[in-house]
Amino acid sequence: MEKVVIIGSGCAGWTAALYTARANLRPLVLTGKQPGGLLTTTTIVENYPGFPEGVDGYELMTRFQKQAERFGARARFGEVQNVDLKEDPFLLTVDGETVQAETIIIASGAGHRHLGLESEHKLENKGVTYCATCDGALPLFRNQPLVVVGGGDSACEEAMYLTRFGSVVHLVHRRDTLRASKIMAERALSHQKIKPVWDSAVTEILDVGQDKVTGVRVKNLKTDTETVLPCAGVFVAIGHIPNTQIFRGMIDMDEAGYIIPKRGTATNVPGVFVAGDCADRVYRQAVTAAGLGCAAAIDAERYLAARNE
Ligand code: NAP
Repeated sequence: MEKVVIIGSGCAGWTAALYTARANLRPLVLTGKQPGGLLTTTTIVENYPGFPEGVDGYELMTRFQKQAERFGARARFGEVQNVDLKEDPFLLTVDGETVQAETIIIASGAGHRHLGLESEHKLENKGVTYCATCDGALPLFRNQPLVVVGGGDSACEEAMYLTRFGSVVHLVHRRDTLRASKIMAERALSHQKIKPVWDSAVTEILDVGQDKVTGVRVKNLKTDTETVLPCAGVFVAIGHIPNTQIFRGMIDMDEAGYIIPKRGTATNVPGVFVAGDCADRVYRQAVTAAGLGCAAAIDAERYLAARNE
C-alpha cells in the first residue's frame, strides 16, 4: 500500500513529490498522459524564478522530476481511469491495475481549451500558442501583427501583455461585448495597439502549407463575411478545462470543474488533498502550482502523522 499517491506530474505534482519524499513517504507519482504537464508544451520559460536566462519547459520539468526522485519519489507512467474514495485505503485504477493509497494528492492540472480547428492543431508551437506570458517575447512575434482569440480576462491580459512585443494586437471575440471584468476590458479596449474584432470567429489559421502562421481567416458571425487578418502569431485564450472529470460526484468542485479546497489544500474527503491548476482558476502559473504542491505535501504529511499517532 502506498502512503502518498500523487495524481499528475506537472509543477504541483513533482513539488508535492519532492516534499513528501523528503518526509520519507516514498510518494508514487502517476504521470498522466502528458508527463511533466502543460509546461512541457512550451519552449522557453522566462518567468520561473531562479533561471535568469530562461529555461526550456521540458528541461525544467525533467529537473523537477530528478530532484524528487533523488529523495525517493517514484514515477509510474499511466493514466488513472477510476478512483474509489469510499474505501480505506483509497483505490485507484491505473491502466487496469489497482493501486491502494492512504492519501492522495490531486495535481491533475488543466488543459487549454482549443478552438478545435485542424490548422490550429497543425500550427501549434509554430505560431499558435496558448500562453502569452510563456511565448509572447519570442523573436518571431516581435514587431509583428498578432491575434488573440477570446473575450475573457485571460484574453484581455494576454492582449495587454502582447502589446509590448507586437506591432498591433487584434482581439477576436465571438460577441460584441467582452466577458472580462470591467477594469480589464476597459484597459484592453483603451490601449492604442489593441484592435477589437467583434462578432467574429476564427475559421482557419493560415498557412499550414508554409508550416508557419501568416494570418487567420475570420468570419463575421452577423454578416457571414470572411476576411483574412495577416499575423505572425495566434494566442488562443478561450478558457481552460480542469482535468477533474474522474473525481466528479466525489470531490467538491465548482460548475466549471475546478476543485474547491477547504482549509489549505484539503478537500471534502479526509486524506485527499489538491494542488495546482485543477483547483486554481485565477493564477495558473508554474510557480504558484509549485507552491501549492508544497502546501499539499505538508498537509498530507501532517494528516498521516495524526492518523498514525
Ligand atoms: P473565461 O472567463 O471563461 O472566458 C473565456 C472566453 O473565451 C469568453 O469570452 C468566451 O466567449 C470565449 N470562448 C469560449 N469558448 C470559445 C470558443 N470555442 N470559441 C471562441 N471563443 C470562445 O476564461 P478566462 O478568460 O480564461 O478566465 C477564467 C477565470 O480566470 C475567470 O474567472 C477570470 O476572471 C479569471 N482570470 C482573472 C484574471 C485577472 O483578474 N487578472 C486573469 C485571467 C483570468 P463568451 O464570452 O462568448 O462566452
